[in-house]
Amino acid sequence: MKAGPEDLADHRGCLVGKPSLIELDNVVRSYQTEGTEVRALDGISLTIRKGEFVAIMGQSGSGKSTLMNILGCLDTPSAGSYTINGHNVNSLTQEQLSALRLKTFGFVFQRYQLLASHSAIENVALPAIYSNTDKQEREKRAAELLTRLGLGDRLEHRPGEMSGGQQQRVSVARALINGAEVILADEPTGALDSASGEQLLALLKELHGEGVTIILITHDPAVAEHAERQVHLLDGKIVSDSGEAVPEETPQEGTQGAVQAFRSISGAAALGMAFSSLRLNWFRTLLTLLGIIIGVAAVVTMMAIGEGGKQDVLKRIEAIGTNLISVRPGGRNMRNSGDVATLTLADADALRDIPGVMYVAPERSSRNTMRYGENDFSGRIKGSTPDYLHVKDWEIAQGVFFTEEDVRNYAPVVVIGDTVAETLFEDKMQAVGKYILMSNSLYQVIGVLKSKGATAGGSDQDDEVLIPVTTGRLKVFGRDYLSGITIKASGSDVASQVKDAVLETLKQRHGAEDVMVFTTDSLVEAVTETQNTLTWLLASVAAISLFVGGIGVMNIMLVNVSERKREIGLRMATGAKPADILKQFNIEAWVVCILGGAVGIVLGYGVILIVSQFSISVAYTLMPPVLAFVTSLLVGVLFGYAPALKASRLSPIEALSED
Ligand code: ADP
Ligand code: MG
Repeated sequence: MKAGPEDLADHRGCLVGKPSLIELDNVVRSYQTEGTEVRALDGISLTIRKGEFVAIMGQSGSGKSTLMNILGCLDTPSAGSYTINGHNVNSLTQEQLSALRLKTFGFVFQRYQLLASHSAIENVALPAIYSNTDKQEREKRAAELLTRLGLGDRLEHRPGEMSGGQQQRVSVARALINGAEVILADEPTGALDSASGEQLLALLKELHGEGVTIILITHDPAVAEHAERQVHLLDGKIVSDSGEAVPEETPQEGTQGAVQAFRSISGAAALGMAFSSLRLNWFRTLLTLLGIIIGVAAVVTMMAIGEGGKQDVLKRIEAIGTNLISVRPGGRNMRNSGDVATLTLADADALRDIPGVMYVAPERSSRNTMRYGENDFSGRIKGSTPDYLHVKDWEIAQGVFFTEEDVRNYAPVVVIGDTVAETLFEDKMQAVGKYILMSNSLYQVIGVLKSKGATAGGSDQDDEVLIPVTTGRLKVFGRDYLSGITIKASGSDVASQVKDAVLETLKQRHGAEDVMVFTTDSLVEAVTETQNTLTWLLASVAAISLFVGGIGVMNIMLVNVSERKREIGLRMATGAKPADILKQFNIEAWVVCILGGAVGIVLGYGVILIVSQFSISVAYTLMPPVLAFVTSLLVGVLFGYAPALKASRLSPIEALSED
């Protein structure tokens, strides 16, 4: 086998004594159509020697193309034997047949079969991809060949920018790039004007002069004249042969060693093909990827917001302290826990006797409007006891907090937060001692709380208005029952014991389990659990959207395969193995999905950035983007396989005849 077209000249010489290259013995090719058998080839015996220029003639339907497909190893005989270079084609594997198409044969088709999106140089270099020639080398060779064929100034032109004659010369260059021994040309002048046709025939003659075997198929006797031997077909049989000769030497089968199959194309070559085909259809690809993009972006955004919210809540819980116990009315089977009438002040008093309990702060609140002079403040007013200050770790900035005595006496006093003081009074330092109006009663401000500022979540903590729980119950809330009790234990180590004792005491007092008792630990657990549930929910939504996205990808890849049948057929005819096609289309699907994942992640982070401007907590973690990325790749692997397999199983003959 020759290494390149440069060496073709070495094979110049006369035919006498040349070994036979191609031997057909009684070859039959029949098709089954609607139960009847059509014999496209009916017992063809033909010997072609190295370096011959043979024209195969016959009218339309006589079997010329069928013969050419068999000669070029695109098709196999139904019966009879075909030997090429001593190798019986029937005994060769798919990969070995591909290797023959790649190295031994070069096809020239009536309609050129160039890839419209590829430049002349890329079209010519195409078969060299499958012989694992590196990019630089194959483009160099392609440029040399094109220059030799007079197209040196058309290297970067696309087929649409060239005349028919020029396109056909590009396809001859493509046939030669891997150093073909045999050129199979099926009606190569059929689509050309007579001048271009003459030029092409002259080119074929020149190649013949350099030792290339040329098999030219034509129905035109004037074209056949250019060959040195004419074979006539009629109804699948040879009716005349001008140059039939007994070969001087016939190579024994296997004397040349086995046909070497080629390695699969490299990942880099497949990537290159994937990107060049994506460039063509980028908008359609983007639309298809919307499912994946949105799915990935949604997951990344939601996870960041969910995680941010969770960390926020956890921080807040930790700020409260780990020795707090909270009692809320309502049992497991009761709804509207906030309004269940069960907790009383007497309950709160009873809880003080439990060992380990330091402070007990009962709570009841309602919304109200307070007024001082012209200024109004609308907010939550909370009734409690002096223990509230200890439970919440709060300090007084001015004045005093109300006392147990105030609670007992229903004293009309309030302690207000910093924000409230600022809203109601021109000078908040003057607040203590003033009287404010609320629900038609006057209350004296006896203290202002030290400012705590906003929470991590952005809500103000200084908008409190505190009133003795007894006063509030009598004049403000209109309800006797408590909305909750907060207890501070002497340490976090006894918190859980205290919690059990509190529950036990209240159960005994109420005769039923109609309250819920939490420690901060159990709150942390609950928040984490809720968050995890949310995460799983999100993950399943994401999984569904990725699945839908994957179906989109599969759909577009299937469309791709049908649209590119001719390309696939051509690639196979020029030597691509099914494995190469499988690889190309698989990698294309992976690239598509990885791109979708990447765009989705970028979009997700964009949304997170915008959302975080609106004082919504977000947390960046590595897991969601990694997960999203891996999943979208997986989608590509999973959903790209079927279309790729379909592509690799196409029959090159059918694919090429597709219009
Ligand atoms: P030519 O190239 O000389 O015009 P072909 O080789 O294309 O002829 O066809 C030879 C005969 O085989 C024709 O009768 C044609 O109808 C038949 N034939 C070719 N391909 C098929 C096929 N795939 N299925 C059924 N019949 C076919
Ligand atoms: Mg034909």
